[in-house]
Amino acid sequence: MDGYAGKFLRVDLTDESFRDEVFDEATLRSHLGGTALGAKILYDEVPPGVDWCDSENRLVIASGPLGGTAIPGSGSISVVTKGPLTNGAVATQANGFFGAYLRFAGYDGIIVQGAAKRWVYLHISESGAELRDAANLVGKDTWETDDLIKEELKRREKAMSVFCIGPAGENLVRLAAICGDKGHVAGHNGTGAVLGAKKLKAIAVDRGKGRPSVSNSRGLREIGKEVVEKLKTDPALVANFNWGTLHGITQGEAGGWLPVKNYTTSKYPISAEALAKYAPKYIRGQFEPEASPCWACQNHHCHKMRITEGPYAGEIVEEPEYEGFAACGPIIGQTDVASTMVIANDVDRWGMDINEMGYLLGLVMECYEKGIITLEDTDGLRMTWGNADATREMLRKIAHREGFGDVLAEGVMRAARLIGGDAPDMAVHTMKGNSIRGHDHRVVWLELFDTSVSNTGTIETHRMAPRELYGVPVEFDQFDPDAVVSFTAKAKGASPFEDSLGVCRFCTRLDTLVQVEAVRAATGWDYTFDEANAVGLRAVNLLRAFNLRHGIGPDLDMPSPRYASTPEDGPAQGVSIMPYWDKMVHDYYDQMGWDRESSKPLPGTLKKLGLEYVAADLWG
Ligand code: SF4
Repeated sequence: MDGYAGKFLRVDLTDESFRDEVFDEATLRSHLGGTALGAKILYDEVPPGVDWCDSENRLVIASGPLGGTAIPGSGSISVVTKGPLTNGAVATQANGFFGAYLRFAGYDGIIVQGAAKRWVYLHISESGAELRDAANLVGKDTWETDDLIKEELKRREKAMSVFCIGPAGENLVRLAAICGDKGHVAGHNGTGAVLGAKKLKAIAVDRGKGRPSVSNSRGLREIGKEVVEKLKTDPALVANFNWGTLHGITQGEAGGWLPVKNYTTSKYPISAEALAKYAPKYIRGQFEPEASPCWACQNHHCHKMRITEGPYAGEIVEEPEYEGFAACGPIIGQTDVASTMVIANDVDRWGMDINEMGYLLGLVMECYEKGIITLEDTDGLRMTWGNADATREMLRKIAHREGFGDVLAEGVMRAARLIGGDAPDMAVHTMKGNSIRGHDHRVVWLELFDTSVSNTGTIETHRMAPRELYGVPVEFDQFDPDAVVSFTAKAKGASPFEDSLGVCRFCTRLDTLVQVEAVRAATGWDYTFDEANAVGLRAVNLLRAFNLRHGIGPDLDMPSPRYASTPEDGPAQGVSIMPYWDKMVHDYYDQMGWDRESSKPLPGTLKKLGLEYVAADLWG
């Protein structure tokens, strides 16, 4: 079938068996791939009562109909599973090469089930799949694991893509991530711990010679060229094309939306001289960048770098994303750019989620400052704001669940409860148990609301969704509760649809109409915008139903007290979303076609999406 490699690889680790899973055309057309198809597999195969660490949990890694095609950045994957921070659904995305190579090997995705009795890694090549002994990889970080697998299989750097876990995943750290290609992370809600529970250390896929068949390859190439041209010339996109997300810290400092010192202030306590070092030109000029783009991507985005100043000079790191700069800079009161970069790189190498880690360390430093924890609790580490050496050592302890690291390995919400005292009121997270992205969302109510009601363990509606297309005013008051609810509900389908295609968000930029054109060219279907929107909504409704059946109810559609606190300074000084919260949530359920109280998707809503069987589960 055009647009698809034609099958998923199902791996049962319990008996170390493989089989091909073929989805019919109707299923593929209504769920496409990536997040949406992963959501269907998760809902269908993981019944209530299966915990995140049970062997019966599934972990789906999927590309989509654009994976490995001429669309730029088409090496991306979505990971869908039941994760340990919320003990609910997670759908998270990573870029790199893996999605393209998987499709070249003849697979659109992988379904991992069962649990191995010994540490193994999965190797996929054009001649098939095999599980190999991973005893020698245990304890290795994500970069070492990548190198060792390539050495063992005698593959050059770009001849194979490796996604793996570090010690954090092995030790079931709840914020463990799956890291790939030395710089790309499927981070949210503890995906790495799920692989750890299954004793699957890594998945390595060869770069084969096969290519997915597409209906209109010339048309797809033209769309690819137009996408690149737009990225290079559109005034709204060109900075991102040239600099990736490196502008984030300086722009956030000017705009007052940086998350500073665990949300205690909006003012980054940094000198003008130190702030200038977080500017893109300084970073690219100073740290000897070597381009390291993903599959088929022309953006000047990802780089390897060498630290050239300060106590960590000589270390090789990946150029952090904005989220890494925020988590290891302002959130923990760090103002030295080189230290920020090495800490962010450590988080990736130990195999943990950068967002959760930032708020975890921010909490620890605030507790330390206020005397809620002392040197005795922290195993002698002075966890003062911005102490880079202590931070790096604490990261190691978390990844190995050693001493105080064992408490922090539980993630922000649970660690705060274990620390006790006022700590739970100081922790930044949603009440489902996951932390948030690296902004002060009290200034961006869209993200605060969406993150809190999201099913996925991260944002679900993206504020960059094309507003006119989804019937949302282009300009609206960020602090207008009705406008925030309306945007969140109306544009809900855009982001999960995009994450079902197998492409990087920085390339097709949530431009739904271009993405629909690309799906038409890849598959030959007369695909429409309405179908695309329905794909996204199907994923959201399936994940909502999954969470409800797994005990995550509307009472958890809430921010933590600190997350929703009233800022004492900055652009949202004195303004709080909480007086509006209950009405916003009920209105959102209404607008999503869900029961206003229970948040259960109504039978009519599910029927419209072809999910009658879910209605039977929820309503009897
Ligand atoms: S924009 Fe960046 S993350 Fe996306 S595909 Fe290109 S290099 Fe990778």
